[in-house]
Order: sequence, then structure tokens, then C-alpha cells
Amino acid sequence: MKTPARPPGPGKRTVLNEPLISARGSVGRVGYALPRDDIPERDQARDLPAALCREALDDFPEVSEGEVVRHFTRLSQWNMSAATTLYPLGSCTMKYNPVVNEYMARLPGLAQLHPLTPDDQAQGALMLLAELERCLAEISGMDAISLQPAAGAQGELTGMKLVRAYHQDRGTPRKKVLIPASAHGTNPASAALCGYDVAQVATGADGLLSADAVASCTDAEVAALMVTNPNTLGLFEREILRITDVLHAHGALVYMDGANLNALMGVAKPGHMGADVIQFNLHKTFSTPHGGGGPGAGPVGVKKILEPYLPIPRIVRQNDTWSWSDAAPKSIGRVRSFYGNFGILVRAYAYILAMGGDGLTHATRMAILNANYLRKRLESVYTLATQEPCMHECVFSDRSFHQTGVKTLDIAKRLLDYGFYAPTIYFPLVVSGALMIEPTETETKETLDEFADALLAIAQEITDQPDLLKQAPFTTPVSRLDETRAARRPVLRWSRSQDS
Ligand SMILES: *Cc1c(COP(=O)(O)O)cnc(C)c1O
Repeated sequence: MKTPARPPGPGKRTVLNEPLISARGSVGRVGYALPRDDIPERDQARDLPAALCREALDDFPEVSEGEVVRHFTRLSQWNMSAATTLYPLGSCTMKYNPVVNEYMARLPGLAQLHPLTPDDQAQGALMLLAELERCLAEISGMDAISLQPAAGAQGELTGMKLVRAYHQDRGTPRKKVLIPASAHGTNPASAALCGYDVAQVATGADGLLSADAVASCTDAEVAALMVTNPNTLGLFEREILRITDVLHAHGALVYMDGANLNALMGVAKPGHMGADVIQFNLHKTFSTPHGGGGPGAGPVGVKKILEPYLPIPRIVRQNDTWSWSDAAPKSIGRVRSFYGNFGILVRAYAYILAMGGDGLTHATRMAILNANYLRKRLESVYTLATQEPCMHECVFSDRSFHQTGVKTLDIAKRLLDYGFYAPTIYFPLVVSGALMIEPTETETKETLDEFADALLAIAQEITDQPDLLKQAPFTTPVSRLDETRAARRPVLRWSRSQDS
């Protein structure tokens, strides 16, 4: 195990300190040296309207190429990533992303294809998209797919628009959407954006949704239930078949949040559980580097009854030729320009082909095994949120540390000193001081052991020196930051006067 980090000696924190690039360089310094050319320079003011000519750029950094490379390489080392450490961020599935996917997405025929290329000159790309749709339909047990939405949240919004269009077509959009208390915040947000009132369904003490609880809230005003399976506690909803039956008996639909597909693929299909519409988070389950705001892709999958409402355009095939079609009078229309984030779709397709059906099944099984391994190694010291065996992630609460005054946040910060990114904290909201760990299938037993050892060592520190924890981390370039200021008072433009 790594030696636990101690409080820093003099200067330790500033080793990698990196000023803004504008603070470097000197006037006239450039990153290239080209031979003098023999074509006379033209006066640009003669060729361009004066209003379009800029005299000088304020504070434009004038630096050498070496300075640029060092600057950005140093900055990149300030971040933790799945390329540098275990990144156990629950619900986010930060698995290792095979580099071969990047190569595929950069193939010039794919990367440089103009989105307005006529269909007959883009047959390969269209076929790739159609094949990806087919793979996702097979994996999920759904009948039709739209690859257009650009994120999980946008997939949810699209899915709920489909639900609304379906009910509207039958005479009324209905009023309410049922959502369990443990749901991801994007679920109620998506329902509300579609004009629905959100009604919360209570989860049982075992962390599961019961068909009886759902039945007691379901009536003719309910448009849909939004349910995540496995849920955000990492538990499989055992009554899912009875639950979806209840909704269908009332003419309502079932939206399944597919963000946790990494616990199902190759083993169980949402389409078989009664889901009418789901979203895929391709950047989670199907291996695209993500975080920091994107890009991602959140395709939706639907049962036949919802297919007429899917976004346009759709890919159609006629005699061996692929083309885009807008012929769908009931479609909700476009949700994204062109056809979504094409590069992400290429990565997902490459990943699925490289893994194959058996590979995807194995990935799911290993993801579940890894999460249960950590759960077992930690359960004697950290309090489990529920006693059930988990699926691909396990959730602890900070209950056993309450008396010491140490909080989940302190544990998360201290983990950085041990060289690990922190798990998701304070989510799901139904667990007090939640610590939500998703190791994913790509971690080895050695890494899992190092991570568990670190958490156990931190638990010992909580007993021995709780005050130390409240100041962690000690080894990062900056320590505790104001968590909300960047969101509340963002500074998006830098000027030299702010640099002091
Ligand atoms: C990540 C996640 C979402 C949202 O997906 P994005 O791609 O981040 O927009 C929704 N639900 C759950 C359960 C998630 O984990």
C-alpha cells in the first residue's frame, strides 16, 4: 500500500503551481521559426474592411512552443482521471476507455465527413449508425432507437416528450409523473420540463420500490413512472415486473433510466422488464471518456407503440441504400443538430464490436463482482446503506463517524492524498452522508485492494486524528476550495488586472 500522505513540508503545495499562460512569455516571442518567404507582404487593410481587422489581441500570450506544451501538460497533471487512477465515481461509470476507440473515431473518413454530405456519399457512416441502433436494440430489448440526444439528461427529456406525445395522441397528455425518492435529479427535471407534476414514490427501508407503493399512487392522471434499474442504491428492483404491470394496467407508460446499464448488459434487458422507453448513456456504459461537461451521447430506445413519435430524421434502408428520412408526421421533431455527437457514436460502436456479446456480458459480471468485493472489504468499518448484495455499485453512509465530527466530504478529500479520486458523495439523497462507490469492471484486484486499504487507513485516522482529516487534502496544488463560488460567481474572462 502507498505510504499515507502527511501534512506538507515547506513549499510542497506549490511544486506544480502553474500561473496563467498569459503571465508567461515576452512581447514578440512565437512558437515557430519559418524561413523568410519571397512573396511580398500585402497590406491586409486593403483587402479587408477596416471593421474586421483587429489591431492587437489584449493579453494574447506570446510564448514559445515549449512553454505551451509544459503549461498544458502541467495543468493536465492537476486533474485526476481514469487514465491516472481508479475513478470510483458512483452512477457515472468511469471505466477505462480503450484507446482503440479513439483511433476509430479519428479515421479521416469518419472524423472529416461533413454532416451535410449527400446520403449517397456517406453510406459507410449511415450504415455504422444503423448498425449501432441495431446493437443497442439487441442489448436493451427495445424495438427502435434514436441516436440523436447528446447526453443522458437530453435522452430523458426526449423520452418524456415521447411519453407526452403518445398520451396527447390518445386525447390527453395526463398530469403526473411518478418518481422514486432515490432518483437522479435529472429525472424530475426532465418530467417538469415536459409540463408534468412530479409525484414522489417512497422507497422501502430495504432501498427497493414495492409494487404496492406504486399501485397506491397510480391513477388515470399518471402519464408514466420514471424508474432506474438497478436503482441509485445499486440494487436491482426485484418487483419490476409487477411494477410495470401496475402502470400498464392504468394506461400509463414506464420510463427506465438506463444510466446503470453497466449492471445489465448481456445479462438482462429493460425491454423484458416492461420498459416502454429508456435512454442509454453511451459515454458511461459504452466507453467514451467523459466528465467535465461532455461530449456524450444519450440515445433513446422505445417499444413499437412509441416509434411513430421518435425524433427525425431517421435512418431508413431501401434496397441496400441507406438514407435520412423525415417522413414521420407524428414525430416530436429534432432534438439535436444533424444526428447527435457522431464521434461518440463511433466510439460506442467500436467498443461494442470489439467486446462482442460475450465480452459485454463478462464486463457486466465483473462490474458486479468488483462492487461486491469492495462492499465486503469495507462493510465492517463503513456502514452499508442497505444489507442487500449490490449490483455494480455499493453505497455507504457516514453514520458510524458522526460522533467524531468527520464528514463524508472529509473522507473524500483525504482519499486524494492516497492517490485516488473520490467516490460520489451525498447522492443518493435518501442515504445520510452517502459514499457511493462504483469501481467498474476495468479495475484489477490489486487496485481494488489498494483502494480498500486506503479507505480502511482513513477510517483509522478518523479514530486517531479526526482534526487532520478536516484539513485534507495536503498533497494537491490547492486544498479546500469554496465549493459553490465558481458556480455562483463564475469568472469567464481573464484580464491582466485580475492576475495579482
Ligand atoms: C448520469 C446519470 C444521468 C444523466 O446522464 P448525463 O449523461 O450525465 O446527462 C441520469 N440518471 C442517472 C442515474 C445517472 O447516473
